[in-house]
Amino acid sequence: MQHYDVVIIGGGHNALVAAAYLSKAGKSVLLLEKLDYLGGAATSSYTFEGIDAKLSRYSYLVSLLPQQIIEDLGLEITLAPRRYSSYTPNPHGASGLLVDKADRGATKDSFDAFSKKDFEAWNSFYSKTEYIAQRLFPTVLEPLKTRSEIRTLLGENFETFFERPIGDVITESFESDLVRGVVMTDALIGTFAPNSDQELDANRCFLYHVIGGGTGDWNIPVGGMGQVSGSIAAAAKRFGAELVTAAKVLSISPTREVEYELAGKHHKVNADFVLSGISKNQLSKLLPTIEPEKVQGAQVKVNMLLTRLPKLKDVSVSPEAAFGGTFHINENFEQLDAAFRAASRGEIPDPLPCEIYCHSLTDPSILGPELRATGAQTLTVFALHMPHSLVEKHGNDELREKAQLAVLKSLNSVLAEPIEDLIYRAPNGELCIETKTTQDLEDALGLPGGNIFHSPLSWPFVEDHEDLATPELRWGVATGVDRVFFCGSSAMRGGAVSGIGGHNAAMAVLES
Ligand SMILES: Cc1cc2nc3c(=O)[nH]c(=O)nc-3n(C[C@H](O)[C@H](O)[C@H](O)COP(=O)(O)OP(=O)(O)OC[C@H]3O[C@@H](n4cnc5c(N)ncnc54)[C@H](O)[C@@H]3O)c2cc1C
Repeated sequence: MQHYDVVIIGGGHNALVAAAYLSKAGKSVLLLEKLDYLGGAATSSYTFEGIDAKLSRYSYLVSLLPQQIIEDLGLEITLAPRRYSSYTPNPHGASGLLVDKADRGATKDSFDAFSKKDFEAWNSFYSKTEYIAQRLFPTVLEPLKTRSEIRTLLGENFETFFERPIGDVITESFESDLVRGVVMTDALIGTFAPNSDQELDANRCFLYHVIGGGTGDWNIPVGGMGQVSGSIAAAAKRFGAELVTAAKVLSISPTREVEYELAGKHHKVNADFVLSGISKNQLSKLLPTIEPEKVQGAQVKVNMLLTRLPKLKDVSVSPEAAFGGTFHINENFEQLDAAFRAASRGEIPDPLPCEIYCHSLTDPSILGPELRATGAQTLTVFALHMPHSLVEKHGNDELREKAQLAVLKSLNSVLAEPIEDLIYRAPNGELCIETKTTQDLEDALGLPGGNIFHSPLSWPFVEDHEDLATPELRWGVATGVDRVFFCGSSAMRGGAVSGIGGHNAAMAVLES
């Protein structure tokens, strides 16, 4: 049986980061990915047949990938900032809120239409999250600190953002329902929770959305998300890691024998360490001593190619500005809570809260030159409060169809022309639109219940009484099985395109 220092299960971007660090450190590394490409949920694809548009099919924005990983591994990744933070049309009126980082005066005027106090409140609120980001983000590539240490690091902000439901803090901080909603959305991405979430899942989700890079900015990966994973894979190969696609891992023994299937044949290797780049639930199927966890996703993702940007009902904002940042639709605070209640009853929320991103406005390089010349633009919609439980109620095919209609209806409520008229038609006659339910994500990528983070997001610290005696506990990558570590989103501080899980697992191996 062939022996490796480290065998890595899965070939998502985190697993690739682990492979790169470990092979750079001189370890023999075998990485096994069941799909025919590397990158997992961080990938680009020619989604529509005959169309020269390489879409970030699943994840699309980057905030949490530390510069240190880019430098350590010599990655060729360019992250383009967006001038506009967000645009949010008023669902009950003609105007909208445009947050323009390059024009403070215009942004203040835009806030003033909704509340005379909220521009000040916004600046004060986000100066607190920036304070947290600047202190917390540099710790994510270090061994875990304790709750008390992080409390000391963050001072009074700890209580505000870590101990009280974030929705309550938002309600107290802002006056306008629309402004409250814009802030709240960061707490609900892929997270099914009410606004006043006593479990604090929404707080954890919020936290990871505001600390990235020490600023909380979300940037566009130039060339698409596939460029991010591709660059990490290239580094791992350069350092000598063996990366094998179309290799499905079938089982892992407690003594770290890994059985996998490649081209119809079964193979077995063993290793000093096994790293799991797959979710805890998937790992439990390969290594039954690991307990599965209850977890579900809560979103629908729609990718589209448009002939051009649509016109808005709000004529005071250009489509280029509105689609230049995050475009929030029907995401007022009350609408978010109503959507949560509707989905909890098994209904598809109406209106469906959605946020939209246009990659090609900031980075047209993902479109071929001919397509670019026509003025075509890509659109990514991430709809909230579509929990996996709806799949059981409606059936997956029916849910996909209904969800797509709900997304288009929600969009149309703020557009001056029907979005359907602008969807590009491929040479084969099909419309360039694809919709992915939580079930579709589970089927394609193995995300449990379609949860985009693999597992419930963790606090970026351990409780004071918790044991930090071993490297895997210190780095937050322990699975409970000797020398089998998480290296993906299921690791503590994992979740999102960050490479943090991969880096920290590699450090735990090197320290062991
Ligand atoms: C629709 C969507 C939108 C998102 N948007 C963003 C965003 O904009 N920004 C952001 O930061 N994050 C976003 N995320 C989250 C982010 O993409 C993920 O958290 C991250 O990519 C997970 O990376 P990973 O390497 O940990 O695991 P994954 O990317 O999930 O990779 C796991 C890999 O393991 C493979 N695998 C599974 N089972 C086996 C087996 N038995 N044998 C071999 N291989 C196996 C899978 O095929 C997969 O390639 C989004 C996710 C989704 C789904």
